[in-house]
Amino acid sequence: MKLVTRAEWGAQPPKQPWTYVAGTQGVKVHYEGDPVPADLVSHHEWCAGRMRGIQAAHMADTSQGWIDIAYTAVACPHGYVFEGRGLHHETGANGNQPLNLAHYAVCGMVGNSGLTQPSDDMLNGLRDAIEWLQQQGGAGPEIKGHRDGYPTDCPGGPLYAWVQRGAPRPGGGGGSRGGAAAPPWPGEYLRLQSPLLNDDNVRTWQQRMAERGWPISVDGWYGAESQSICEQFQQDCTAHGWPLTVDGIVGEQTWNAAWQRPVS
Ligand SMILES: [Zn+2]
Ligand SMILES: [Zn+2]
Repeated sequence: MKLVTRAEWGAQPPKQPWTYVAGTQGVKVHYEGDPVPADLVSHHEWCAGRMRGIQAAHMADTSQGWIDIAYTAVACPHGYVFEGRGLHHETGANGNQPLNLAHYAVCGMVGNSGLTQPSDDMLNGLRDAIEWLQQQGGAGPEIKGHRDGYPTDCPGGPLYAWVQRGAPRPGGGGGSRGGAAAPPWPGEYLRLQSPLLNDDNVRTWQQRMAERGWPISVDGWYGAESQSICEQFQQDCTAHGWPLTVDGIVGEQTWNAAWQRPVS
């Protein structure tokens, strides 16, 4: 696990001592809920500052009365796990004290706009944090979302879908780590058109599909072969609980699924 300790990210000390917990039933997954800049994916040097900002906002929130950042740990898009309240300390994030005593709280640095899709590295970081809490923090096997048992959208659609699948490591099987962080969708629809589309966005998507095992030429041309592979991928996703429109066009959902959906 790529742990970043409180000292390393420059945390303020808690206003009061943390409440000790011997263990919990498990872990709940959260997201930031606010806008997160989409280009955070290419700026890990921003992540420690983001942590300091989240902590400052939480400690200034008089309606909550938080003594510290509310989360037990936070995973950034680059797969690092930032220590929050840490092991054996009651979280403040789950909604009320019974919920806070029942589960730890790990948060992914995605929001409700901008960066909304967790990268493979982030999912691995969240998984690392969960296993750290299970192995050293007395966390039980439950992995749930903030919205389970509390009225909130948190942790957002993509992370909640991941929780419902059992919070697997990306790439499937054997606990192997997934590939690089998903690049942001380029905003261009990759589709069969005349003249043929030929650019680096097509090449990036083809490269990823080839890594997933699809028999596709990585040549940057979106031709009939790419369209056919795209449709087959969309059908395969839809048949395995990851619904996509089957249209042979790589839009944002299909682009993201190419990186985020576990390889079947
Ligand atoms: Zn939450
Ligand atoms: Zn980062």
